[in-house]
Amino acid sequence: MTNSFDYDLFVIGGGSGGVRAARMSANHGAKVAIAEEYRYGGTCVVRGCIPKKLFVYASHVSGDIEDAAGFGWSVDGLKFDWPTLVANKDKEIERLEGIYARNLKTAGVETLHERAELIDAHTIRLTESGKTVTSKNILIATGGRPFVPDIPGAEHTITSNEVFHLDALPERIVIVGAGYIALEFACIFNGLGVDVHVIYRGEQVLRGFDDDLRDGLADAMRERGIDITLNTDVAEVVAKDGSYTVVLSSGEKVDAGAVMYATGRVPNTSGLGLEEAGVKTGSRGQVVVDETGRTSVENIYAVGDVTFEVQLTPVAIREGAAFAETVFNDNPTKVDYSCIPTAVFTDPELGTVGMTETEARKAFHEIDIYKSQFRPLKHTLSGRDEQMIIKLIVDAESERVIGCHILGADAGEIAQSVAIAMHMGATKADFDATMALHPSAAEELVTMKEKWHPAAE
Ligand code: FAD
Ligand code: NDP
Repeated sequence: MTNSFDYDLFVIGGGSGGVRAARMSANHGAKVAIAEEYRYGGTCVVRGCIPKKLFVYASHVSGDIEDAAGFGWSVDGLKFDWPTLVANKDKEIERLEGIYARNLKTAGVETLHERAELIDAHTIRLTESGKTVTSKNILIATGGRPFVPDIPGAEHTITSNEVFHLDALPERIVIVGAGYIALEFACIFNGLGVDVHVIYRGEQVLRGFDDDLRDGLADAMRERGIDITLNTDVAEVVAKDGSYTVVLSSGEKVDAGAVMYATGRVPNTSGLGLEEAGVKTGSRGQVVVDETGRTSVENIYAVGDVTFEVQLTPVAIREGAAFAETVFNDNPTKVDYSCIPTAVFTDPELGTVGMTETEARKAFHEIDIYKSQFRPLKHTLSGRDEQMIIKLIVDAESERVIGCHILGADAGEIAQSVAIAMHMGATKADFDATMALHPSAAEELVTMKEKWHPAAE
């Protein structure tokens, strides 16, 4: 299939989307090369989902031990060693990175370990070796990187890139932002014994999520000892003798051993040669694509975070797979974005799929809400004063469940299962007809009979 080009496909970026697209395209018979400037596996494997989740597990241990007393356990001489956690995490990430690189090779993909940039719509420059190659098709899968607002002292702050390799745990950390990364790391550090202070410019954490869960999560995090200051910006970060003073817009000052910014991510497109190749970008520098992932240039496609749409690993993977099916298997495939489950791995965890109550009120003529807020069985003995919330949003006309929102242990695992039913178009009657699994928290999903009315609260 190569015509006069060196390759049928050149993929820039060896993360979730790029690797899936490269492997599948090669499996369909294409001659494929992929370039990765840092480490194969990309953000998810190297400095995202996987190391983060390993840290989440580590952070849960202290809470489990606190809860254990009510069950008759006493644990003496508790000690946590941060370097051990980092070293064990690094070992696992190295193993996974190796698997990613090996799988590419097994599929027949040529793997390059250097930065790639576009010279024109078919030509790529490899910046270290200085080599130039040509390809019939090009896939941009360069992901994103942390965004830090331009405030005085921004150079003293860390982001999710550095947080996985801190030399030592600070005694106190300020985390700016209240999205996925800010709240996940607030809970991780809190569980590891660090004093945590979250600073957020908005009125409540996790903008865009269901309001009941936002309130419930903020309450639970505060109950666990995390300071959350809302409606506040950071004016300046001042460094002195190895520690930092964060000056807030209110004039208040907060001292900390580290300041972490988790204020969103920006697409990795600077210096990529997009203009030279004629690829259109949007206001945040993202690659603009149509519903098949094609850019403004016919033979150039983009998948994953670089398009700045949904920034989640399974979405990047699906987009990579759809690209390979469409371009190399003669099977035009569009990704179905209708029912994306997502979890925020805080403690307690948040899992959600479909519309929030606010979104549903705007989109549907009439909706019904089913809500259960209760103390989980475990906490009757642990003594922890923490509520679980399970909430279903139903379109009153079709009776389809259009939103499911869960706060509490294993919320992400539950949301994944509910997403299957919702994707199949399940109605509230289907949920009700399903046998409960007892004793579980998730049984509330099939036992909530009463519609919730605002007057009931
Ligand atoms: P990436 O995985 O970012 O891969 C892009 C790759 O391209 C990188 O390896 C980069 O080095 C390389 N690259 C960039 N430019 C060039 C170039 N010019 N030449 C060669 N190589 C280049 N998502 C979830 O679904 N669940 C989670 O729990 C979750 N947790 C996260 C936690 C953190 C801390 C972060 C930061 C993200 C998390 N995400 C999570 C998001 C998820 O990691 C991303 O959505 C996903 O990695 C996107 O995949 P991608 O292929 O688009 O980009
Ligand atoms: P998010 O978009 O989730 O959160 C960004 C936070 O920073 C928001 O609270 C936002 O406030 C705030 N913010 C943005 N700009 C500024 C600014 N200039 N000054 C002050 N605050 C600001 O991004 P994250 O960085 O947390 O994560 C990036 C993406 O990675 C996520 O959107 C998600 O798609 C993915 N991810 C997924 C995870 C998972 O699946 N569990 C875990 C981690 C990341 P506001 O809301 O007011 O704009």
